[in-house]
Amino acid sequence: MPTLAPHTDPALLADQIRAGNRTSLARAITLIESQREQDRERAYELLQILMPNLSNAHRIGISGPPGVGKSTLIDAYGLHLIEQGHSVAVLAVDPSSSLSGGSILGDKSRMPRLAQEENAFIRPSPSDLALGGVARRTREAMFLCEAAGFDRVLIETMGVGQSEIQVAGMVDTFLVLIQPGAGDELQGIKKGIVELADVLAVTKADGESVGRAREAVAQYGAALRYLRPKSESWAPKAVSLSALAGDGLSELDGLLGQHREAIAESGELDSRRQTDLVQWLGELVEEAVLQRLRQRDGARERLTAAVGEVASGAVSAYRIALDLSRPADS
Ligand code: GDP
Repeated sequence: MPTLAPHTDPALLADQIRAGNRTSLARAITLIESQREQDRERAYELLQILMPNLSNAHRIGISGPPGVGKSTLIDAYGLHLIEQGHSVAVLAVDPSSSLSGGSILGDKSRMPRLAQEENAFIRPSPSDLALGGVARRTREAMFLCEAAGFDRVLIETMGVGQSEIQVAGMVDTFLVLIQPGAGDELQGIKKGIVELADVLAVTKADGESVGRAREAVAQYGAALRYLRPKSESWAPKAVSLSALAGDGLSELDGLLGQHREAIAESGELDSRRQTDLVQWLGELVEEAVLQRLRQRDGARERLTAAVGEVASGAVSAYRIALDLSRPADS
């Protein structure tokens, strides 16, 4: 095995991350996002060193469709947190970023004021990972940020499908943003996402929209009461805010804090975190097994041949899946 480049030596990287070195933190996240097997091994070594000493950060998922005001809110709320003496890491999960060309500059300029703060760290979306991979690497990036001492980790998601559910499982508090006045508040995809919310914020409550936002809060407040509660220790709450005017940020912060306190007191926080570690283990095992299957001699050829057989209806997909996953010597 070739000698490790000094900047990716896990023990050294771990020391630098713990000392608050941002360049090393960014490099470590790049390492965990790498698909190369050698990098994976170093990444796991790094996580193993760091996992016992994570900060007790509040993990907050922030979700909503494009244009709802996520980045404006994260910029304003992140600054609010820093003013209160917190340190803030922001991770973005954008499964479409490979299409939209998400980039470091792109994400930083979406949160221009926060990006300038010494106590903030903003990490853009991985752009070339499969959907499941995005969330898994996000969990690992979150651990790295906590090892670096951040006490607030904000994970931004785009309001599209599976990544919401995955992220909701790995954070303590899930905040859903809604824009008032679209007239379809409780329909379609929004309903699914609203069910995941611990706190729901109606955005852009300023100017002419103040009244509409207030109505939306009342509507959602009522709707949330009819949903099957996600938690025994917390009833979801709705709030309105204006990130541009800076209104409602303290109230939002208060609700997010109350949620975490409630689930910490009831023991749900610990059990949720344990459940998520088990989930992580399952994902890692799956990944390792798949990787091993792919690396077998002739695996690619067998799969290519199988695609033709399945497409023509000659053999069932189930039969082929069993064959391909059978141990090599049987
Ligand atoms: P994202 O796509 O969810 O990240 O949304 P952005 O934060 O980029 O916001 C989309 C648009 O809504 C931008 O033009 C923002 O200036 C605007 N916007 C965001 N927050 C507010 C707000 O609190 N009030 C008003 N009036 N506009 C806002």
